[in-house]
Amino acid sequence: MNLSIDTTSPVLVTGATGYVAGQLIKGLLEAGVTVHAAVRDPSNTEKLKYLNEIATTSSGDIKYFSSDLLKEGSYAEAMEGCSIVFHTASPFTIDVKNPQKELVDPAKLGTRNVLEEANRVSTVRRVVLTSSCAAIYGDNADCQKAPGGVLTEDLWNTTSSLEHAAYSYSKTEAEKEAWNIANKQNRWDLVVINPSLVLGPGVNPYATSESFSLVKQFGDGSMKSGAPRFGFGCVDVRDLAYAHMAAAYVPEAKGRHIISGHNSDMFEMAQTLIPKYGNDYPLPRSPMPKWLVWLVAPLVNKAMTRKAISLNVNVPWKADNTKSKRELGVNYRPLADSLNDMFQQMIEHGYFKKG
Ligand code: NAP
Repeated sequence: MNLSIDTTSPVLVTGATGYVAGQLIKGLLEAGVTVHAAVRDPSNTEKLKYLNEIATTSSGDIKYFSSDLLKEGSYAEAMEGCSIVFHTASPFTIDVKNPQKELVDPAKLGTRNVLEEANRVSTVRRVVLTSSCAAIYGDNADCQKAPGGVLTEDLWNTTSSLEHAAYSYSKTEAEKEAWNIANKQNRWDLVVINPSLVLGPGVNPYATSESFSLVKQFGDGSMKSGAPRFGFGCVDVRDLAYAHMAAAYVPEAKGRHIISGHNSDMFEMAQTLIPKYGNDYPLPRSPMPKWLVWLVAPLVNKAMTRKAISLNVNVPWKADNTKSKRELGVNYRPLADSLNDMFQQMIEHGYFKKG
């Protein structure tokens, strides 16, 4: 779909240093848009150098603003004059000590902070929220209960909590908060993007996203004796960037959008790497039996609780992405391309030793 991109007014991207935001900002800058990039620390030139490199070769401009999700009013300056707000900032981390403080507060209160600012800034006409498929389902066992065993935009995650799958709970609470605020006014509209697991090369190859930790395990030997068939949906970060832009610039875009190219699982994902990297890296070559995952995974990975294993391993993940194709024109690239491009980038940036 050819997007008609308005380059006359700036747009705000929160969480500009992040993995997802990086490719989105690249797309915006290349289209000639002025991006107000909200970051926690604008003096961290090391973290911002990747965005600056793109800005120097693109027709768009980037301006940095210091903002924190938990500081009220801290997006005011960054949002001034903006027509569109892309709210991507939210911690994506699994291993936390205090899920309320580290996940739910920044996700939910941060969303409130950003959207209440949109209520005050009269130039804002649309907010594009990066939610997640995690706001649609909690565990893969929920897919089985979905009509026809397939997740759709009509569903909400009802099974995650502070105690179980806290990241998914944080995304559910944040998206609900966004709809509550959006539905109380009619000056700007809310368009929600619900990506599944994001893969593919990042603009910043060292972003904090869990996407990198997961793919790292394929190549660092952690899964050399097998990978669990832990079902996931997957989407390329570059296709996701396009989806965000379409959500902003397709005038009729409305509601939630599952952005997921492939129904897959960890073992199948790793197999896409074998032809090119199988000789040089200790990639998993067989699926790990569920009983063995149940026995050993909790000892090495805090997020892999026995409950999570029971409800997700050997349980297929399926979602319906037709709305994203029909209404946003998303064209999903092959899963193997996303994984191979990401793995190559990780090799070049020192993520693993050959073994
Ligand atoms: P990421 O690379 O870790 O990016 C997270 C961003 O949020 C960073 O820019 C981070 O800023 C910012 N942030 C965290 N806490 C903040 C705070 N208190 N104040 C201001 N900024 C804060 O992760 P990502 O994968 O790109 O995730 C971006 C968005 O995509 C999130 O909303 C995530 O839930 C969603 N998502 C990701 C995936 C996936 O598989 N990656 C899937 C579905 C949805 P700093 O650089 O300062 O830490």
